[in-house]
Amino acid sequence: MLAIVAGGGIAGLTCALSLHQVGIACRVYEAVPHLAPLGYGINLQPNAVRELFALGLGERLSEAGILTAELAMYNKHGQLIWTEPRGRAAGYRWPQISISRGTLHEILLGAIRERIGADAVVTGRRLSSFEQRGDRVIARFVDPKGEPAGEAEGDVLIGADGIHSAVRRQFYSGEKAVFDGYLHYRGVVETEPYLTGASMVVVGHRHHRAILYPVARRPGGKVMVNWLAYTRIPPGSPPMEAWDTAADRQACVDSYKGWTYPWLDVRGLFAATPAEMVLQLPNVDRDPVPRWSFDRVTLIGDAAHPMQPVGAQAGSQAIVDGRVLAASMLESRNPVEALTRYQDRRIAAMNDMVLRNRSLGLETILQIAEERAPNGFAHIHDVLSQQELEATALNYKKAAGFDVEMVNSRDSFVELPARAS
Ligand SMILES: Cc1cc2nc3c(=O)[nH]c(=O)nc-3n(C[C@H](O)[C@H](O)[C@H](O)COP(=O)(O)OP(=O)(O)OC[C@H]3O[C@@H](n4cnc5c(N)ncnc54)[C@H](O)[C@@H]3O)c2cc1C
Repeated sequence: MLAIVAGGGIAGLTCALSLHQVGIACRVYEAVPHLAPLGYGINLQPNAVRELFALGLGERLSEAGILTAELAMYNKHGQLIWTEPRGRAAGYRWPQISISRGTLHEILLGAIRERIGADAVVTGRRLSSFEQRGDRVIARFVDPKGEPAGEAEGDVLIGADGIHSAVRRQFYSGEKAVFDGYLHYRGVVETEPYLTGASMVVVGHRHHRAILYPVARRPGGKVMVNWLAYTRIPPGSPPMEAWDTAADRQACVDSYKGWTYPWLDVRGLFAATPAEMVLQLPNVDRDPVPRWSFDRVTLIGDAAHPMQPVGAQAGSQAIVDGRVLAASMLESRNPVEALTRYQDRRIAAMNDMVLRNRSLGLETILQIAEERAPNGFAHIHDVLSQQELEATALNYKKAAGFDVEMVNSRDSFVELPARAS
């Protein structure tokens, strides 16, 4: 059995490692000519981290990232709305890890090269089309200049090619990305630790908010803090595709006047970020689709369920997809059945997650607080009851598959058969 994986991002690499773990050969084809450690911060929830531990990568990731201890949410006046422990502090058997996406990617890639081989990831090969012929799938590629660059034949094709997936496009031609009118700036900056030293904070409300969390320790006790700042899109917005459009840092800093709090100088952090490190991205996702698996072809990660960056879910869910797909292929060596089984286990929850994130997910409590008390409050319970706060937090975690009980009580998605001694 040979699996062709199109896309060497977080989903594709995790899936390849998981397929290898269950004894399925695979090869990853990645569009970019050189894989570089790209991206800023990404958050891995305990449901995904336990799967990375099961792949033997937990220690490396824990050392490279920050074990997130707390999520704290504030209104724009800097008043605390909600705080909850995270990761091991919340009782999970595995941590929540905030890490540079580039570092995560490097660790996954290093493991693939060690375990599967130096040629397991072929770069400079963008999937352009595919065809199912009998019990084979033929994938066709182009090089970085767009010239034909050969084909590969396998038993299954896994589309892990991100939000602008070419695999998905072949099933859903004419589909458009959905842009919600918001822009988010992203940056990463070295600074002193704040709050617990491992706190993820979300400040503001739907129309204007900021998310910050440390992703790495630096010599001398400092930390690298990843930040996102949301604002309504100004005229002359960037193209909807790019992850790497340079931003006007000053425009971002100017729109956060007054966001200086005793517990963190949010605006000051934006201003201290090297200008070339500030990027801008439009907030895009896609409408849920009814199917990901079509005979011997399926979709995972952002190709399957691109979602807005709310609730720190995209990376974690991409990892879980790869694990559930490998588990399904371990259970049934009939590829068509395995791909259907994977889809059936994941699609309803992920389609729900895409829609929940459009309505802010857990961060919805920020918007309620803003609507009920735009000028702030004497006590948060005058605005939102403890019950409302707790229920919102728990509902989101349950829907995303990472509430403490659920994660701690289940087995890893991939349960290897015991070896005969
Ligand atoms: C360069 C980059 C930087 C990012 N930075 C961040 C970040 O800082 N924080 C964050 O939360 N999320 C970031 N993301 C998104 C995040 O990685 C995903 O939302 C999430 O991890 C799901 O991963 P994925 O593998 O499904 O998609 P992605 O991580 O987007 O990976 C998709 C991969 O497929 C490749 N590809 C695309 N089209 C083709 C094709 N036709 N054929 C072959 N390969 C193809 C892409 O080059 C990419 O390597 C970034 C994504 C990219 C590509």
